[in-house]
Amino acid sequence: MCGIVGYIGKRDVAPLLLEGLQRLEYRGYDSAGIVITSPKAAGLKMVKAKGRVRDLEARVPKRFTGTTGIAHTRWATHGAPSDINSHPHLDPENKVAVVHNGIVDNAQELRAKLEADGVVFASETDTEVITHLIARSQATSLEEKVREALKVIEGTYGIAVMHADFNDRIVVARNGSPVVLGIGEKEMFVASDVAALIAHTRQVVTLDDGEMATLKADDFRTYTTSGATTTATPETVEWEAASYDMGGHDTYMHKEISEQPDAVDRVLRGRIDDRFSTVHLGGLNLDAREARTIRRIKILGCGTSYHAGLIGAGLIESMARIPADAEPASEFRYRNPVVDPDTLYIAVSQSGETYDVLAAVQELKRKGARVLGVVNVVGSAIAREADGGVYVHAGPEVCVVSTKCFTNTVVAFALLALHLGRIRDLSVTDGKRIIEGLRKLPAQISEILESEEEIKKLAEQYAGAQSMMFIGRVRGYPVALEASLKLKEISYIHAEAYPASELKHGPLALIEPALPTVAIVPNDDLLEKNRAALEEIKARSGRILAVAHQPQEKADHTIVVPKNEDELDPILMGIPLQLFAYHTALAMGRDIDKPRNLAKSVTVE
Ligand code: GLU
Repeated sequence: MCGIVGYIGKRDVAPLLLEGLQRLEYRGYDSAGIVITSPKAAGLKMVKAKGRVRDLEARVPKRFTGTTGIAHTRWATHGAPSDINSHPHLDPENKVAVVHNGIVDNAQELRAKLEADGVVFASETDTEVITHLIARSQATSLEEKVREALKVIEGTYGIAVMHADFNDRIVVARNGSPVVLGIGEKEMFVASDVAALIAHTRQVVTLDDGEMATLKADDFRTYTTSGATTTATPETVEWEAASYDMGGHDTYMHKEISEQPDAVDRVLRGRIDDRFSTVHLGGLNLDAREARTIRRIKILGCGTSYHAGLIGAGLIESMARIPADAEPASEFRYRNPVVDPDTLYIAVSQSGETYDVLAAVQELKRKGARVLGVVNVVGSAIAREADGGVYVHAGPEVCVVSTKCFTNTVVAFALLALHLGRIRDLSVTDGKRIIEGLRKLPAQISEILESEEEIKKLAEQYAGAQSMMFIGRVRGYPVALEASLKLKEISYIHAEAYPASELKHGPLALIEPALPTVAIVPNDDLLEKNRAALEEIKARSGRILAVAHQPQEKADHTIVVPKNEDELDPILMGIPLQLFAYHTALAMGRDIDKPRNLAKSVTVE
């Protein structure tokens, strides 16, 4: 889940790796470490520390020079966060160093075997078994030693390995946890995320599962875990290094919320076809004839992406009239789902590396299903595994909680829905209407962002609440779900989301002055129904904050948002609630970009 960064070349490696680790800090971690060497050095030099990268930096001695190294930020899964459990993990002779992202599933069994053989473990981590297995291998090359170790490892890993006797190289391997090589001029980088290397090179090679690589200062090669050479063509990353800076904002979340008008503009750019009142989606790989044979659509995602999928399903049903629903990928993959050949599956993931989503895609592909991806990171695992898909072009999202990527994902679904709709029964007039609506989105988002001061004042009034209720009906319900998740994630206020229609079937019992309700009240055919729900809450003296297209009489406060087409309203109605969650958390003094217990891309099960 967390970070790996490595370098081999001529530069002084420690400052380079520490800077790389800083670029990975956004993912959330609990400890960090670094190991270095150089062609002339005898042995490996290591420093590690529980805490932040700056704590590690403070421990790095003055003379800590080298030109080859690997570093890590850890997200503890086996053994508490501590200096000892931090990576890298070295063998007793200090020859082999391993950093690892992921989980070794059979660690306990392997540890028992190694201990029976006399191996003494220094840490409680699962990772350390990899170190000992490599150190004990009798193979003559580092590549072969690593390969032998990986043969007995079950689980997920992105690893980088150094060896004092082979100090002209770094060997890396991937299974389920991302590994990206950065190709430089007489220097090579490796990282778990392009964020760590983009300041140095734009040329990257993303490893596939089951792939390994050897990096030397002036050369790299890739091959499979069974030894067969693979071809790796470097791709150019288009994201700017500056996208990873805060750009004058206090937090990445604030920066990313405010980038949404531009981000939405990007997902629309070059895709609208006015002549046929539809959109072109280049990488979809689904021709009109195939599109007509789809009987159902099933969308899979986790967390915020799942919520984007729920809105997406609604958009597809209403525009394309194809039955569609969304399900958490983490649930789907464990219930032995019936995979139907006439169903189109769509996997949603910001990073394109979310393990549960990737595993669901692999299971679906194995069963012969057609799977599309809706992802942000170009060339990521899910993007490559899928038969086609739509990139959401939100640009890098650094804050752990998703804002601009959520919005762009929903807009991407609107494009897909329009595309499928126009192949099927959506009229030219409706196609035009939706296109006009889509074009209005960036300016309308800007308009909402202008009311930040007002939303901030409201948030400060609600910041003391113990718990909050979010309600919405049909299109508004996933908006309520996402807004409540956002509030939970960064403010730690308990929040529930319910369909407004379900209130009287249970949750109404909770309503009292101390439990405020946020209600999504669009000006559509369900307006009167939603107003009735507000009446029910008011009758129990509940406080109400409405997000609506006009002030709501029964609400204590209304955030008024601009009206778009009914189908597209959910995109806009979520935006003020991102700011609401943000300012609530800020008023409560929370660490917004790094909420407790959460990580950006969840690449473990
Ligand atoms: N499972 C390993 C540990 O607990 C690695 C966790 C990570 O991905 O950082 O140390």
